[in-house]
Amino acid sequence: MAAARGFFARAWLTAALAVLAAIPAAAIEASNRYRSPRNPERKIRQSTELIVLHTTEAAARGSLAKVSERGECHFLVTEEGIVYRIVDRDREAFHAGRSMWNGKEDVDKFSIGIECVGYHDQEMPLAQLHAIRDLVKELKKMYHLSDDKVVTHSQVAYGAPNKWQKKKHRGRKRCGMLFAMPSVRRVLELSARAPSDPDTRAKRLVVGDDYLAKVLYGNVDTMKGAYGKVEAKVAAPPPAPKAAVKAAPKTVAKTAPQPSKPFRRIPVTIEDLKAQGYTMKGAVSKNITAAQIAGGKWNSATTYYTIRNKVIPGNMINPAKIEVGMCIWMK
Ligand SMILES: [Zn+2]
Repeated sequence: MAAARGFFARAWLTAALAVLAAIPAAAIEASNRYRSPRNPERKIRQSTELIVLHTTEAAARGSLAKVSERGECHFLVTEEGIVYRIVDRDREAFHAGRSMWNGKEDVDKFSIGIECVGYHDQEMPLAQLHAIRDLVKELKKMYHLSDDKVVTHSQVAYGAPNKWQKKKHRGRKRCGMLFAMPSVRRVLELSARAPSDPDTRAKRLVVGDDYLAKVLYGNVDTMKGAYGKVEAKVAAPPPAPKAAVKAAPKTVAKTAPQPSKPFRRIPVTIEDLKAQGYTMKGAVSKNITAAQIAGGKWNSATTYYTIRNKVIPGNMINPAKIEVGMCIWMK
């Protein structure tokens, strides 16, 4: 009997070990094709308090190569919804740059960064949003994070004093801005968002971009039209047609076709800019600054700088590197 019990105990243990071995080490499904060569040199992160969402403001291919080469995020999600692992999730990725949240500087040290191919103020395909939703869900579970800990890069980035803004300010960039909009958060199944900016509230930073602040913490939601409809459809499917409505002619219930808007191609050449209706508004010179030409939109994603056949979106431009001879293109 004792021997038999020993046998069963061993058998049970063997079976249990087999089950454990079958659990994959990494629960997140992602392609390793662009896993960053920087991984071995990156520190293991001490804590994970935030998930930071970014928008690449550029096309997938170039973005993948760049973030992989520099180790600039943990994951990248393409427009088709493909998830790429870049930096291992337990290591530090350099994604947030000059950043602060709740008085703590250098958000890279305590966050996971996800790059999403697209623009901070443009719709994203549903396939992509659903992939982001699933990835964020997995990570929230792993690190025990609540919905309000899923923030945008623009929420944590801050700018050093410069020509345009004399104080340390929030609003260095609008990266990932759409992910704070209620309609987009609904698609991502995030019920809460950070209610206010802890650093401007505590006067550690000033508000450098009023519009951004309204999107992040107010009611500005420019995606409502796009995702409001989608969500309504999911929430309330059309009622089933009533049986025998007086011999109504057989109508095939038209399921409204999803308006498949063509996605804006990122202008990478001057020809692209022209083809998309951009016009050259002026060139930076010794006497004319970018702000004089583009006004408050000098750092907008829809303002482009060109020089030596390079096309740089305004939100990617480093103000210190705006040089004489740069042309500014706007719609
Ligand atoms: Zn970013």
